[in-house]
Amino acid sequence: MSCFLNTSISFILSFALLFILLLPDGAAEARTSDNDDYRQERERMVQMQLIRRGIEHQPTLDAMQQVPRHLFIPENRRSQAYNDGPVPIGYGQTISQPYIVAFMTEVLQPKPGQRILEIGTGSGYQAAVLAEITDEVYTIEIIEELAGSGEANLREAGYDKVKVKHADGYHGWEEYAPFDAIIVTAASDHIPPPLINQLKDDGVMIIPVGHPMRTQQLMQVTKSGGETRSRSLMPVRFVPFTRED
Ligand code: SAH
Repeated sequence: MSCFLNTSISFILSFALLFILLLPDGAAEARTSDNDDYRQERERMVQMQLIRRGIEHQPTLDAMQQVPRHLFIPENRRSQAYNDGPVPIGYGQTISQPYIVAFMTEVLQPKPGQRILEIGTGSGYQAAVLAEITDEVYTIEIIEELAGSGEANLREAGYDKVKVKHADGYHGWEEYAPFDAIIVTAASDHIPPPLINQLKDDGVMIIPVGHPMRTQQLMQVTKSGGETRSRSLMPVRFVPFTRED
């Protein structure tokens, strides 16, 4: 009788143990497959939206394959994370279309060890893409709430080194200047002179220039021997570059 009891108790115990062991495993499996789904969506994004349209710069493609774009998008819109278009992030702002992020990154040709300034943190996604390539990324956002959420997104996704500041980016970030590259992700009617001053000789800037409510030109600005040159790359639509009163 006691032998029978012992057997059934040990049977129940091993069943319970099996159950306990299986539970966390199951949860982990669900998490992995979630990430796998996003990874596959990213692979499709890189292939169909970037490579097919001519993006060739391998570090840019690798970075966009790595950065979990869905973590930079409000939860109620995560299903749109890998869509071929911009997505609203609140406060009337948007995270840019993946192709535009890739195109602008490719123009900068970022390299490890370079110091890069971004104006317009927004979701933090563009800063994360740059941070996959270099450790020194500085980003400024004029809307305080977005500076906070952008920084939180970056930290959640593991980009601890990106420096985020709430300020009017028109003045750049003097303390860390000069920069090898500057990227502006809001449309301005002119190129802010402080940004040109904070660009290194042989540095490159990319900025949408034009009327905030119409189509603008994406401009590449280069500095060489103290001389600044700019050229139009393509027509774009960006949210307006605003100024602090
Ligand atoms: N790079 C962002 C795109 C954000 S949209 C991303 O990857 O998600 C452009 C952002 O520029 C908006 O968040 C807007 O608030 C910000 N912005 C506009 N004018 C600015 C200024 N003068 N200084 C800093 N940020 C500005």
